[in-house]
Amino acid sequence: MDTHTYDLIVIGAGPGGYVAAIRGAQLGLKTACIEKEPALGGTCLRVGCIPSKALLESSERYAEAKHALGKHGVNVSGVSLDLKTMLERKDGVVKALTKGIEGLLKKNNVTRYFGHGRFTGPNTVQVSGKDEVLLQGKHIIVATGSKVAPLRGVEMDGDRIGGSTEALSYSEVPKHLVVIGAGVIGLELGSVWARLGSKVTVLEYMNRILPGMDGDLVAEAHRILKKQGLDFRLGVKVAGAKVQGDGCVVTVEGAEPISCDRVLLAVGRIPNTDNLGLDAAGVKTDQRGRIEVDDHFSTGVGGVYAIGDVIKGPMLAHKAEEEGIACVERIVTGYGHVNYDAVPGIVYTHPEVATVGKTEEQLKEAGVAYKTGKFPFAANGRARAMNETDGFVKILADASTDRLLGVHIIGPRAGDLIAEAAVAIEFSASAEDLARSFHAHPTLAECVKEAALGTAGRTIHL
Ligand code: FAD
Ligand code: NAD
Repeated sequence: MDTHTYDLIVIGAGPGGYVAAIRGAQLGLKTACIEKEPALGGTCLRVGCIPSKALLESSERYAEAKHALGKHGVNVSGVSLDLKTMLERKDGVVKALTKGIEGLLKKNNVTRYFGHGRFTGPNTVQVSGKDEVLLQGKHIIVATGSKVAPLRGVEMDGDRIGGSTEALSYSEVPKHLVVIGAGVIGLELGSVWARLGSKVTVLEYMNRILPGMDGDLVAEAHRILKKQGLDFRLGVKVAGAKVQGDGCVVTVEGAEPISCDRVLLAVGRIPNTDNLGLDAAGVKTDQRGRIEVDDHFSTGVGGVYAIGDVIKGPMLAHKAEEEGIACVERIVTGYGHVNYDAVPGIVYTHPEVATVGKTEEQLKEAGVAYKTGKFPFAANGRARAMNETDGFVKILADASTDRLLGVHIIGPRAGDLIAEAAVAIEFSASAEDLARSFHAHPTLAECVKEAALGTAGRTIHL
């Protein structure tokens, strides 16, 4: 077997891995990236962020044409669904973007190896698959991502009972879809199929949806999504799910079994360290199977690092990317840092839910004195013009210093609006900084300004 030597080897070409590889090459490291799947881009591009957003976009247009355009005086008739074309468009978007990553690696002189990577020692990785080769690296970054968490009693068959990957490609619209877990995946993909005509029942173990998000935001999201037809059953314990004939049956403790034609299991994701040879490298995992790292992504084994979904922290593509960059920059320049207080999180439902910084519950628990500013989209000119008046912007600022602590938005384009809040928190801005900055009129962003004014009791348009 051939042996090749590199300054940097990255295992996994998801948003964490391929970005780390490109940055390493930019900084002059001779770099290799190992990926076991034919297409690059990881969960995010192949079966995560991108295909789910493609379907959210298409299904929203379908729902809008069916139910919302009439309010604008646009009458359309004969609206019908061509699911095959919708799925093919989604696949086309994924194909173009994953091909794009291939081009980016080439352009940056990163050598791609196609196969499964496994440590055979702290500095060596064996690649098995289309490429069969032994790689030696001065620095090795593990970026192997995550996979669907199983649930005891739920018998996944990769078709009728599956995870998010299956739910991105159902060949027909389920009559009744049961979603287990009211987290991000459950709400996004539940919304897609509900818009396309499924009856969607969401079973959630907790007494609320979207655990961890600001309570106010969650209450509003729950209200709006319920109105859109999602049937939430909160505080329920799923005992099992299995295929029965042409459909499935989901059993729930203390309630009648639910018959449906498909089940989407979305109770979280777990780190992916399958057959990675971590023992051979001496790399340790914690009780949840995540690779243990210090603040600089070092595993404690000289030259071996880990980033992204395979370590602690929110499982988000942009978090993985920033960790990849910080990890490589620290290797080369001695400095690299990720500010976990400024990581935005977005749920791409309609309307979108977006958040950055601390929630009100976290501030209460930490005993931090804070002030609140809140502004509804119903009082915003642009939102009214768009006929998108659900939701609000909520800003939490330190009661004595005025420093921004958290920004929580539910409403139209919340995922784009949160960007200015993330930058403001990154720059340690005050609520007054936001309130005194120009926000063009008429834009949705004026709601952010008004909520910032609200922290000082100075809201103008309410
Ligand atoms: P991954 O993207 O999982 O990439 C890891 C790669 O490593 C994979 O390609 C895998 O094949 C490869 N690999 C694993 N083991 C080996 C091995 N031994 N050898 C070689 N290759 C290996 N996040 C967002 O920020 N926004 C979103 O809108 C969003 N939507 C999502 C929707 C869905 C349905 C899902 C499932 C996830 C979504 N996420 C979203 C989460 C996001 O996809 C992940 O946080 C992100 O992909 C993590 O990046 P990563 O590089 O750590 O791992
Ligand atoms: P999640 O952690 O967001 O939600 C899981 C939900 O399942 C929670 O509400 C939890 O209380 C519930 N749950 C857990 N055990 C249960 C049980 N036994 N019965 C019923 N409910 C149960 O996980 P997810 O939705 O699977 O998403 C996985 C990861 O992917 C998340 O970390 C998320 O960050 C990431 N993701 C992000 C986006 C985005 O950024 N827009 C989109 C999709 C996925």
